[in-house]
Amino acid sequence: MRLILANPRGFCAGVRMAIDVVDQVLDVFEGEPVFVYHEIVHNRHVVDRFRGRGVTFVEDLGSVPEGSVVVFSAHGISPAVRGEARDRGLRTIDATCPLVTKVHSEAIRYARQGYQILLVGHRDHQEVIGTRGEAPERTLVVESADDVESLVVEDPGKLVYLTQTTLSTDDAGVIVEAIKRRFPGVKAPPSEDICYATTNRQAAVRQIAPECDLVLVVGSKNSSNSVRLTEISQNVGTRAKLLDDASALDDAWFTEGTETVLVTAGASAPEDLVAALCRELVDRFGATIEQRDVYPEDVEFGLPLTLKKAMVERGIDPRDRRVMVEAPVISAELYGATDLTISARKA
Ligand code: SF4
Repeated sequence: MRLILANPRGFCAGVRMAIDVVDQVLDVFEGEPVFVYHEIVHNRHVVDRFRGRGVTFVEDLGSVPEGSVVVFSAHGISPAVRGEARDRGLRTIDATCPLVTKVHSEAIRYARQGYQILLVGHRDHQEVIGTRGEAPERTLVVESADDVESLVVEDPGKLVYLTQTTLSTDDAGVIVEAIKRRFPGVKAPPSEDICYATTNRQAAVRQIAPECDLVLVVGSKNSSNSVRLTEISQNVGTRAKLLDDASALDDAWFTEGTETVLVTAGASAPEDLVAALCRELVDRFGATIEQRDVYPEDVEFGLPLTLKKAMVERGIDPRDRRVMVEAPVISAELYGATDLTISARKA
């Protein structure tokens, strides 16, 4: 068996920052209870590891004692949640990804200018709930191309569409086309809302999956961008399975003729889980491993202002703080292989 490791895969800059924030909060507020509103990122292992370190995850701020420290997850929150936290006197640290904040800013700006917003995304996803909350009376959520026909808008000349950051670029394209067909004057966002990490991970799968018999995506079921990676693979005709970790491997997936397997990971999936999966596949099938570099990524986000302020108040200089979540050093040994080739293919 031949394993191809897609690169980029796994942690994006927003997830790295959000995990780093909780790490640092545990350190800065040592001894105090730490709450996180919603899963910090949509990955079971990341959440369980923080739970093991004493973090309490909540879906309702009402259960957080007044005055406590609460971290807002990478997916962003609505102004209503921010207001509730303020009213309850909570000490808030905001780990919202800056690329989600950018979409919030667009929603605020267009709503103020009198636009109605067509927000393309999954209605129940935390990010969409947060973005919609910026201008609930001006926002219509569009989940599919079929939704577009039944939209009732106030003024087709004053419409803008925005998108969730983690959509499938394939699906979003179809929905946006349907919107443009029905409302030719609709305004596009000033820059692409689907983020660089989502786009790059999907593009890598789109490029490599056609030469594979199976695609394994490490990620949790509630991770939008992980699920989208399986869909992108299926769109190009290659079977894909989503798994939290190597323990979920199923022998039935490895049908006769499964020679080449692409391994990738959603933006919230830790690399140690990918490495453990590779080691398992090397053990079981004697797989060889090749990493395929498709897009280089060097995006990094700094710590949020709310955390820096908390550090300063406690006599800690934020400039002395290094980022705790670092990219793993890729080595054959880590992945259980005797040799690991790295090949680049221009996108
Ligand atoms: S997937 Fe994109 S929007 Fe979401 S946290 Fe990562 S970089 Fe930010």
